Amino acid sequence: MKSEDLKQRDLASVWHPCTQMKDHKFLPMVPIKKAQGVWLEDFDGNRYIDAISSWWVNLFGHSNEKISSAIKQQLDCFEHVLLAGFSHEAVINLSEQLIEITPASLSKCFYADNGSSAVEVALKMSFHYWKNIGQPKKTKFINLSNSYHGETIGALSLGDVSLYKEVYEPLLLDVITVPSPDSFNREIGESEREYAVRMFAHMEEALQQHKDEVCAVIVEPLVQCAGNMRMYDSSYLTLLRMACDKYEVHLIADEIAVGFGRTGTMFACEQAGISPDFMCLSKGLTGGYLPLSVVLTTDHVYEAFYDDYENLTAFMHSHSYTGNPLGCAAALATLDIFKSENIIEANKSLIKEFSQQCERFCDHPNIGDIRQRGMITAIELVKDKATKESYPWQQRRGLEVYKYGLKHKALLRPLGNVIYFMPPYVITAEEIQLLVDVAERGIELATKD
Ligand code: PMP
Repeated sequence: MKSEDLKQRDLASVWHPCTQMKDHKFLPMVPIKKAQGVWLEDFDGNRYIDAISSWWVNLFGHSNEKISSAIKQQLDCFEHVLLAGFSHEAVINLSEQLIEITPASLSKCFYADNGSSAVEVALKMSFHYWKNIGQPKKTKFINLSNSYHGETIGALSLGDVSLYKEVYEPLLLDVITVPSPDSFNREIGESEREYAVRMFAHMEEALQQHKDEVCAVIVEPLVQCAGNMRMYDSSYLTLLRMACDKYEVHLIADEIAVGFGRTGTMFACEQAGISPDFMCLSKGLTGGYLPLSVVLTTDHVYEAFYDDYENLTAFMHSHSYTGNPLGCAAALATLDIFKSENIIEANKSLIKEFSQQCERFCDHPNIGDIRQRGMITAIELVKDKATKESYPWQQRRGLEVYKYGLKHKALLRPLGNVIYFMPPYVITAEEIQLLVDVAERGIELATKD
């Protein structure tokens, strides 16, 4: 009764994100009653493993005792205070710790309250830096094809997934898009590294040609998550760092999705041994509890804004909830869990488990690619294994897997024809097996004809 009532009231009043609401004529709406660890439970007592960490935010399970109690403790002191002119212990501690664990040259933290806003901050800061140092002709950005950086107008401009972007094109900034080094497209026999190096020539050319008008290159290091979990070799990032230095262009690393251990290291940039000029973090920053984001940058950038007020060089950007203390408390508890439970090391056995469980898909006639970076594993359904020709998007094959999953204890939310696992790190080997079993049967159904 309760469940039916909620579903009806929901559909009468809530407009859901990233959803064609008419789909709910045939797709169930699932109100959640409680959640613990990797498990979500609805009002009818059905349970679902949150295989996608509730849109890649949750790291240490739902209702995590340590994070919940850190938030409660902060709540007992106070809930929020503006961050202009005023400060608080949680934001100071968090900034110090983030500076310590991120790549070496990052030494200042600027906060916002969601990933897209962090990208906006990095974009504006980079542009403003060049203006402050007397290079106002630098007004453009370079991105990679198939990239995703958020939904607000600036962030959407920097992305390249047409499903989200195309309709808004007349509203967007003009960007220079360079072909992605996405390993899926490499030639047979070509290694991921060889392909990344080969594809870098396009970036080098764009930088050479446009360096005088370009503020920054923005990338999602190692995995283009919303772009169907496409992955590329770390050598591309190493080359990119060198080229950005050479052509005097900033490098923005959008680690909003891949940060905090998702790719096997704390930050994906570590695998390329690079330090970006801006690093955007959100999602896992609070363990999946509260909306908070941060842009880390260098002293060098900071100093270009630091001057007498009259010179009007300050970064006059603000969000009401900048550096929210409850979010910062959740983030501090999250970082504490990473350290005290040695998570990056502990995840290695889970990563291996996913890789072994997914070996079963190698010979499947309609699986064109199985790829993995750390705690992200993706399986791409194709019409033709030999040519990797994809199924027409209109057939919505992935949706069949989603529907099957819902009936069999798994929240799998494919991206088009790509089924992927990106679960909270508290998942067990048995739960991984259950997930992959469900995905396998769902894939059988979805590829039947
Ligand atoms: N950048 C990347 C790489 C992302 O994956 C996302 C969210 N999926 C964003 C930016 C935007 O973050 P938010 O949804 O919090 O605005």
